[in-house]
Amino acid sequence: MGTTMACIAGEEVYRQWEAGGISGQRLGAQKTPFGPSAEIFLVPSAQGDVYLMPRYGMDLAKTAPHRVNYRANLYALKDLGAESILAWGSGGAVTHNIAVGDLVVLDDLIDQTYLRPKTFFEDSPLGFLRQFPVFCPALRRAVGAVLGEMKLVHQAGGTAAVTEGPRLETPAEVRQLASLGAEVVTHSFVPEVFLAKELQMCYAAICYVVNYAETGSRHRPFSPGALFGGLTTPSDGERLAGVVGAMSQIVSNVVAAVAAGGKSCECDKTMSANIRQYRLPADWHKWFA
Ligand SMILES: [Zn+2]
Repeated sequence: MGTTMACIAGEEVYRQWEAGGISGQRLGAQKTPFGPSAEIFLVPSAQGDVYLMPRYGMDLAKTAPHRVNYRANLYALKDLGAESILAWGSGGAVTHNIAVGDLVVLDDLIDQTYLRPKTFFEDSPLGFLRQFPVFCPALRRAVGAVLGEMKLVHQAGGTAAVTEGPRLETPAEVRQLASLGAEVVTHSFVPEVFLAKELQMCYAAICYVVNYAETGSRHRPFSPGALFGGLTTPSDGERLAGVVGAMSQIVSNVVAAVAAGGKSCECDKTMSANIRQYRLPADWHKWFA
């Protein structure tokens, strides 16, 4: 008996599916009480099933980060039996010790989004939950160990600022984020991490660094037609392709590590005080009525 894990990622999932790098079943979008979820791909393995979800869609059909139906996405994955989520998203380096192509296993975040519904419980007190630790410590450790074994350059902890997007940040905003303690800036992971807690799921996040957030001090001139308008150089692009190419292997190694390591966190009890105080039914589907 293995573990059931989900990986919420970007359009790399579609690219790898189309290139034959993922074999499994395309389940499509799932119906939920919060509307349809993003598409889901099921990849079975000996260690456990993995559900892959490209959160933004692909090409021109890609949704802006604040328009993703995060509640439907998390509900659908929980409904399919996922116990833990490994989230994957791109970001920009805010501090100078992080380079393009590095991976940061987040251990904290600053939420600067303002257009996204962040709770399943807008009409009840159930969303009053602690946010320390923000990410599942056990899943984070497993991810860090896997990245180390795979010899991928990574930071085993880091603070992300999550901004609304879809635009990139202005130099003054990046300087402000740096002063707040952010090491990377991204549009991903919020509110997924908060919603996962409300559904008692483990959640860890890998931010892969695709550019240097522009503070105005290390200016790369605008280059029409180039990747991120010239923010990312061709050699950065090669390094990124290698990292994205490793994603499937990272996910399957993390699934194996989690299956072997057993459960050593409290994520499946985040709602226990609510369950006792408000006599919530055992079936989580009924918490939203
Ligand atoms: Zn956990």
